[in-house]
Amino acid sequence: MTHLLLPQFTFLYTPSVTQCQVFTPAEIELFRKSGAILRACLDALAPKAVAGISTLELDQFAEAFIRKRGGVPAFKGYKGYAHTLCTSVNDEVVHGIPGRRVLIDGDIVALDCGVAFEGIITDACVSVGVGQITPQASKLLSVTKSALAAGVAAVRGGSRVGDISSAVQGVVEAGGFRCVSALTGHGLGYTVHQFPDVPNIGKAGTGPTLPVGTAIAIEPIVTAGKSIEITQADDGWTLSMADGALSAHFEHTVVVTERGCEVVA
Ligand code: MG
Ligand code: MG
Repeated sequence: MTHLLLPQFTFLYTPSVTQCQVFTPAEIELFRKSGAILRACLDALAPKAVAGISTLELDQFAEAFIRKRGGVPAFKGYKGYAHTLCTSVNDEVVHGIPGRRVLIDGDIVALDCGVAFEGIITDACVSVGVGQITPQASKLLSVTKSALAAGVAAVRGGSRVGDISSAVQGVVEAGGFRCVSALTGHGLGYTVHQFPDVPNIGKAGTGPTLPVGTAIAIEPIVTAGKSIEITQADDGWTLSMADGALSAHFEHTVVVTERGCEVVA
């Protein structure tokens, strides 16, 4: 899941601390275990996003997969959210609710999932094309994925959140796209969202300093359209591009180390 900077959406986030949480080696081991379940789930799920499957079927597969391996779907029950995945199709940006919608050839769908293992939460997302997608959709996916890699590469103990933001923004804009700046990554731990926000636009050398042993979700959220305005559906969750443009989302959970970071999911 994604943190939202817009005031009307702040119900999704309850900032109670303004310091990065530093985890013990035992807790970092739990991040690895939580993340291994999540990564395996997304690896198994992505090939199932084919024409004819409903987003609810994908959700049911993910929930069974996670529970069978001793994890708990972290989004389910979070602020009343009822599902394991967020499935955001085409112009839906984030927090699309799984349901009767059936994927069709040419769709792109973001599969966003969270796993709790002994309380420790990891969060990750992949966006995939369904069947034959347009060259523009394909470029949007590859640029967003590259932006995530650049963000991850900017992390090390002592680096600033703005170093990540700047790296992500640079790749996205060089690719001809725009970051949906109201939606950000976030700290992780025993909660789905915590300090710090990890924006997808910003300046290197600014923002909170990341200590070794903290955990964050880095998640570029990118539109192919000119406007970054988003709208909220009546379901209270689904956010879509106001202009109907395609959007894509990739996310990793990382634990900060001395020289870089460990991608745990
Ligand atoms: Mg997230
Ligand atoms: Mg997520």
